Amino acid sequence: MIEAKNLTMYYGPTLALDRVSFNAQEKEIVGLLGPNGAGKSTLMRILTTFIYPTKGTAKICGYDVTTDPLSARKVIGYLPENPPLYEDMRVDEFIDFVGRSRGLKSQLLKQRKEWVVEATKISGIWKHVISELSLGFKQRVGLAQALIHDPKVVILDEPTSGLDPIQIIGIRKLIKDLAREKTIIFSTHILQEASAISDRLLIIDRGRIIAHGTTSELRRDKEGSNSFIVAIQAPKNEVEAVLRGLSSVKNVNFLEEVSGCQRFLCTAIDYGDAARSINGIIKERGWFVRELALRELSLEEVFLGLFKKAE
Ligand code: ADP
Repeated sequence: MIEAKNLTMYYGPTLALDRVSFNAQEKEIVGLLGPNGAGKSTLMRILTTFIYPTKGTAKICGYDVTTDPLSARKVIGYLPENPPLYEDMRVDEFIDFVGRSRGLKSQLLKQRKEWVVEATKISGIWKHVISELSLGFKQRVGLAQALIHDPKVVILDEPTSGLDPIQIIGIRKLIKDLAREKTIIFSTHILQEASAISDRLLIIDRGRIIAHGTTSELRRDKEGSNSFIVAIQAPKNEVEAVLRGLSSVKNVNFLEEVSGCQRFLCTAIDYGDAARSINGIIKERGWFVRELALRELSLEEVFLGLFKKAE
């Protein structure tokens, strides 16, 4: 549904995107995660044909965004960071206007309006003037205008920014529901947001994709895969000396004592080697091991690790 190849964008001398490539499949939710200024909006503006890339190509449902932008636009629904609303119109007037601009007429326009009202839950404010709506409802109306023409691909730039927690939950649910029928790409600088909604994450920093994958794939990132926890029932000094003496273990950090067991967080050069050595020593000394396991990194740790590496 989305195919981007080597997208590069310069604003004058500023390199905002640097050879970005990725694909998105049907009914997939792809989260674009990165700090402010990473290039998320630039990428979205290129995909929605608002701006043309300096180099590289992108296709939406097979339509090239630079050589066939009108066809691409027909299959895209776009919600920019600030919803494009005519504040002095009523919601019903505005959605009707956008629908007509999209070429919808009579029965089909009526059906689509009914669908977006239901999908974005705006029936209660249907006759309200947009300027009088809360931010959460403005966002919903922004979504309704993005969906009126039944696009296959929906592109949402920071869809929950500025919303309160209840509104955020509502918009997240709406995005998840939409993904049953559509391909969605959304941007955020909030880690929890990205992992809560997306099937797959693209992590972007200074214009480059520095990692991609599902949250569990990212957690299994090689860099972090050798951290492990070991808890042994024996005197702390002895356990620590043994762990530090192992050639397959790099770092040893004491965490806590739990029911007589000394719990350490270690980094191995090779976890398999370290675990075999520890098991051997435990048997030899008759110690009791309560815990010996690879530690799954939190997403925060993965994220920080990636940015450190990129720097
Ligand atoms: P994000 O959406 O991740 O915050 P942007 O795509 O807005 O990032 O910006 C990426 C980089 O491009 C930043 O360094 C930003 O200052 C720069 N930039 C964005 N838009 C323009 C513009 N219209 N003119 C010049 N520089 C821009």
